[in-house]
Amino acid sequence: MTVELTHDGNLAIVTIDNPPVNVTSQAVRAALLSRIETLERDPAVAAVVLRCAGRTFIAGADATEFDAPPQAPHLPDVIAAVEASDKPWIAALHGTVLGGGLEVAMGCHIRIAAPGTRLGLPEVTLGLIPGAGGTVRLPRLVPGDLALRMIAGGKPITAQDALSAGLIDAIAGDDLLQAALTRARKATGTVPTLSRPVRPFDAGALAGIGARLVAKARGQVSVAEAVEAVTQALTAPPEDALQAERARFLRLKSSPQCAALRHVFFAERRSLSDPRAKGTAREIAEVGVVGGGTMGAGIATACLRRGFQVRMVERDAATAEAGARRVREMVEESARREGQDAAAVAVTLDRFAAGTEYAALAQADLVIEAVFEEMAVKKAVFAELEAATRPDAILATNTSYLDIDELAATLDDPSRVIGLHFFSPAHVMKLLEIVLPDAVADTVAASAAAFAKRLGKIGVFAGVCEGFIGNRIMSAYRREAEYIVEDGAWPEEVDAAMRDFGFPIGIFEMQDMAGLDIGWAMRKRRAATRDPNERYVAIADRICEAGRLGRKAGAGWYDYVEGRPVPSETVRGMIAAERARQGRTADRPADIMRRLLDAMQAEARAVLADGTARRAEDIDVVMVNGYGFPRHRGGPMFLAGQP
Ligand code: NAD
Repeated sequence: MTVELTHDGNLAIVTIDNPPVNVTSQAVRAALLSRIETLERDPAVAAVVLRCAGRTFIAGADATEFDAPPQAPHLPDVIAAVEASDKPWIAALHGTVLGGGLEVAMGCHIRIAAPGTRLGLPEVTLGLIPGAGGTVRLPRLVPGDLALRMIAGGKPITAQDALSAGLIDAIAGDDLLQAALTRARKATGTVPTLSRPVRPFDAGALAGIGARLVAKARGQVSVAEAVEAVTQALTAPPEDALQAERARFLRLKSSPQCAALRHVFFAERRSLSDPRAKGTAREIAEVGVVGGGTMGAGIATACLRRGFQVRMVERDAATAEAGARRVREMVEESARREGQDAAAVAVTLDRFAAGTEYAALAQADLVIEAVFEEMAVKKAVFAELEAATRPDAILATNTSYLDIDELAATLDDPSRVIGLHFFSPAHVMKLLEIVLPDAVADTVAASAAAFAKRLGKIGVFAGVCEGFIGNRIMSAYRREAEYIVEDGAWPEEVDAAMRDFGFPIGIFEMQDMAGLDIGWAMRKRRAATRDPNERYVAIADRICEAGRLGRKAGAGWYDYVEGRPVPSETVRGMIAAERARQGRTADRPADIMRRLLDAMQAEARAVLADGTARRAEDIDVVMVNGYGFPRHRGGPMFLAGQP
């Protein structure tokens, strides 16, 4: 780590070099403070440029200092010293200017950013709020509603948006340092951010935005605290607001939610730091996708958007055309969300082709199968793939439940086969379970891990079993949810308990959304081999027999009125009949969420014990990113370890 001081005429340049992302560790804070003091005493220096070496300006705080008591000098004091300087400080920004990095930049008198810079205060996502004046300085630079969205929403903004909002003063051309130096030469009479009045704001509109953000956070307290901190910063004297912000920050820092969010954050970053990801990865440029339904189209879109060539193979011309249309729509919709134009869409779709011939996959480096969830269909597809592809091409299946060892065994070379279990919608959901059959080659596992990273996914290794990590745990708590209903609760009461806990959606609403037919087919297939001593709840079967196959059928566990789920008298009748048939008393269970969690955690422990998951934290990553387990509770395994 160095904080270097150089000179260009009467200008000073302070360069922070603390790889990889210039976090504000104690050593950086101390060195920076010492440079500030030196510069204050130097009459030859007229203005100072503050910049960072490497790929980014300060990208945040030092995570390794999180668990220890704060060490002096504290960041608020360092920033106050910059801001109090008589000499103008010009922050030269590039990369990701996040958290403490943006707070430092706001303490400077002028901010100039390289094109492509992103700026944000993402502390809420770690269960915190900014603790070094961010909530107090930001609303003095940008309009109150944007300050609130940035601080309580946690999403960074682009340099362009930062410029139009007033957060930065200019966007540099190619040479950021020269632009900052030029600006420094002209800098006079600059006003410290804290001495500026807050930008005009509409209190009513802000209250509405705050309420929406808090509702969306489903019990994550840092969001509510962030809303309160910004509200306070807009109305209280800055010194009071700064003190209150710091107190909130320190209180949140030692909160259980902050610990849970940090746990998930680091677990996600460690999920592929695994010996099995370390082998030599094969180059993947061209990806084949077999099946252009919901998943195949989503997978193709995910690959196209990350620069891969994609060839899709379907059953016949009509399904190929339908698959291609899905891909086009998904690519267009993703581009729209990211503000890309038609030309960008055309470039992306140029790398895509759909048809019915397996010969199109002759040059594919990786083929992902996403056809119907039936072993016989998948085996037939894999036989075609074995004949059509290069012998070193990796063959992956997106199966949800089927035995990948059995599928791999049908090939001459089973070491080519791996599971790539995407989540729906596959171009949006970040999770990817990488399922490793017994025979898989190390280089295939490593290639899948590298592929997950290139797709921008959070990859987690899993072993072969029915449902792998996530679906297996979900099956366990879905079963428990049905027990709870048969024991006396209505489906909507179970869903409400899950929402109250922080899930975005309850298990019954979710099944309606996914469709009830696949589970029904699976239950019918297994009926003959079911253990007669195991409790079996037949309510879902009754619902399906009545043609209520979920949202797409207009009815499922719920009725649908104008597309919204409402509790169903018909379903209540079926439930009552099943309860009576089973001789169950209908006392509403008081501890719905406890029972669901117990079921989830018991299965999670089994998943760990038999090696399906290698680490407890991998299970948390899967449940948080694939199944809506509230992130601020850290995942089922983390929660189980809490007092
Ligand atoms: P889907 O019914 O939407 O799509 C399946 C597609 O496969 C159809 O377009 C069909 O025409 C095509 N197909 C069938 N047989 C084929 C063959 N022999 N050759 C070429 N194409 C063929 O199904 P889906 O929801 O996309 O699921 C596909 C796979 O992904 C299944 O194994 C499923 O278990 C798995 N999966 C689904 C989800 C989900 O949420 N839907 C999530 C993860 C995994």
